Amino acid sequence: RQIPLPSDVYGRRKNSAGFEFGHRENLERLMASLSRPWGEVKAGPLVAGVTSKAEERPVRSPSDRSRIVGSVKDATTADVETAFAAAGKAFKAWSRQPVEVRAACLERMASLLEENRDRLLALLAAEAGKTLDDGIAEIREAVDFCRYYADKGRELFGSPMPMPGPTGEDNRHLWRGRGVFGCISPWNFPLAIFLGQVSAALVAGNTVVAKPAPQTPLIAFEAIRLFHQAGVPAEVLALVPGGPEVGAAITAHPKLAGIAFTGSTKTAWAINRALAAKDGPIVPLIAETGGVNAMIVDATALSEQVADDVVMSAFRSAGQRCSALRILFLQEDVADGMLKMIEGAAAELNLGDPSLQNTDVGPIIDESQTKMLADHVADMRMKQKVRYAGRVPETGNFFAPHIIELDNPAALTKEVFGPVLHVVRWKAKDLDKVLSAVDATGFGLTLGVHSRIESTIRKVTEALDTGNVYINRNMIGAVVGTQPFGGSGLSGTGFKAGGPAYLMRFAEEQVISVNT
Ligand code: GLU
Repeated sequence: RQIPLPSDVYGRRKNSAGFEFGHRENLERLMASLSRPWGEVKAGPLVAGVTSKAEERPVRSPSDRSRIVGSVKDATTADVETAFAAAGKAFKAWSRQPVEVRAACLERMASLLEENRDRLLALLAAEAGKTLDDGIAEIREAVDFCRYYADKGRELFGSPMPMPGPTGEDNRHLWRGRGVFGCISPWNFPLAIFLGQVSAALVAGNTVVAKPAPQTPLIAFEAIRLFHQAGVPAEVLALVPGGPEVGAAITAHPKLAGIAFTGSTKTAWAINRALAAKDGPIVPLIAETGGVNAMIVDATALSEQVADDVVMSAFRSAGQRCSALRILFLQEDVADGMLKMIEGAAAELNLGDPSLQNTDVGPIIDESQTKMLADHVADMRMKQKVRYAGRVPETGNFFAPHIIELDNPAALTKEVFGPVLHVVRWKAKDLDKVLSAVDATGFGLTLGVHSRIESTIRKVTEALDTGNVYINRNMIGAVVGTQPFGGSGLSGTGFKAGGPAYLMRFAEEQVISVNT
């Protein structure tokens, strides 16, 4: 049954606007920003009172690994210690002030992101290999996170909720921040996921020590500088760039009050173990991890739409989204025709320099990821049928879209983070087997279904616990406040990012009972 949406479903918030490529002035400004020479962005820890003594390391562009985009000084463990000391001290004052002060910081941040859009887009292309379309979507998502959490923050932290009780007693329930939150984020959404975590933690009243992925410190540095400009004090929000040692120093810290992490399931396990191994307060882990995401297509599906949605879900962003389609279940009767169309559509993709307007698919983030993909395809080639391999530009760190046909879904044993689509055929009578195979992966992030039969759609959605289910459409690009995003099982702990419950994980409850 459809529940009608209240007319003020968005409240006073609106999702951010897109980019009008047809608008000449807009486009000229963007092109000027994209053609700026790189090499001058210098990043480092942003910790109150700290000047890093670490060596500078170059940050290379994903598409051309010889091109230096900027440099970063990683944080030392001493810097992490200083950040925690300052954030610990700042916590009470930051959390006890009216939520309006914190929400206003998030809203100013959203406006600053919009004002700096062209520069951020250029940096997203250069440092993270984002195409213009992906970069624009990412900035919009970051803006939307800030405004959405500002709104939700006002609702949750605005005023205590009266609770019923016997006459003569006044009971109030309230939410407030937990303390110093660690935010550890990935390279594939170096702005949106990074700022989603940070803005949620801040508005809930926490102070934050944030570690971006080692591949993308520059965009994080720019973002935190903007947050400071938006009014968040340096003691309240620290940036500690670096690799696993910096992450370990955060998780091991005795003052840590919670962790928001997005990345691999393996790292989430390691964080969970590190948190469990220390004494002291028992703190929550909010983890968003990967998926072996499936799409189930039956013989009633519209083939043109399937081809479009499969190519978009598997190959857009070079498959470097945790929501991306990894395993496609095609009903046997229509499989050959659909595969032909999918391969035809994949062959039209233009791989190349992400800052050019006609590029559809950008590079792979670094050499180690490209090698992982090449090893996977080589390994699969021995036992399975590699049906399709697209073209790549002559130079640069690219990986061609691949389609591999599996004789058994169990042949895919892990998440392969890139543009590699696996295909399995199924017989009409075997839908239950398909559902068991999807369930058996243990992941539960995204699921696609293409069917015109209502009972099939119902059966699939009822059988599986997957976090985000997309029917007769593509399965990437969840929108803040519209498709709250996150999975279950090996895919994460919840609550969903960009959803109504997310802030609760960053907060704790208090009940005050007064005998009047
Ligand atoms: N939220 C993104 C999407 O819906 C994916 C996030 C991720 O890759 O971690 O495509």
